[in-house]
Amino acid sequence: MAFAQALVDGAGASLRGLADMLMPPACMACKAPVATPLSLCAQCWSAMPAIAGARCESCGIPLPIAYQTETVCLGCLNEPPDFDAARSPFLYGGPARLMVLALKNGREAYAGPMAAAMLRAAKGMAWPGQLVIPVPLHRWRILSRGYNQSALLARAIARQSGGLLALDLLVRTRPTPRSQGMSRPQRQRNVKGAFRIAPGKQSSLKGAHVLLVDDVMTSGATASACSRVLRRSGAASVRVLTYARVAATDATPYLSDNTGQDAHGEG
Ligand SMILES: [Zn+2]
Ligand SMILES: [Zn+2]
Repeated sequence: MAFAQALVDGAGASLRGLADMLMPPACMACKAPVATPLSLCAQCWSAMPAIAGARCESCGIPLPIAYQTETVCLGCLNEPPDFDAARSPFLYGGPARLMVLALKNGREAYAGPMAAAMLRAAKGMAWPGQLVIPVPLHRWRILSRGYNQSALLARAIARQSGGLLALDLLVRTRPTPRSQGMSRPQRQRNVKGAFRIAPGKQSSLKGAHVLLVDDVMTSGATASACSRVLRRSGAASVRVLTYARVAATDATPYLSDNTGQDAHGEG
């Protein structure tokens, strides 16, 4: 626990925090001047790609107008996910994408406001005493980056919802190749067998209700792989909360307009 906690805290966090305090407040997404620290400017606020209106009851993806009467998307109908439900406040794009990249690139303080937005979208999915578990990174990747952005979000969510943070329960057994450009079946193969429960930790999952936290969900293959492992070890339910969601039809443009920093895991 101590090792993971130290990685979450990140040695660079305090220096960055100090620098931020000395600078005039800037919009979290575009860096324009704002009145309040850790806020968005009016322009970015109105450009946030919020997921509002009809959404799939299962995976939370926005449903096209034509499907307004359906409650489950075609993807979930054809292949029900292994988690009970998933929600995200935003699509992955515009200022929401910039927030994800900023958190990944060292803006630890963004985790608080991002977690608050996630909990607003979580309606009925998060409650005190629930196990809050981040999607783990492989330790090689943690070492190269310094911390796991999903763990930062999970910690902020546990703090805000009264959940029980479990950082070391679920582990990634091998680094998985970046999944950019992969099809859904390829993504599923990519994460197959990549997660397990840490030795000796299985008992804490018996009958537990789990809130699985990640920054971005793409195909849901990662969340499903984690959910299978958690359920096999006795979890009663697994709900997934991510900050942003790549809508299936939008996956290609959102994932191709980047500089390599968008490779946000295995989707
Ligand atoms: Zn802005
Ligand atoms: Zn769905």
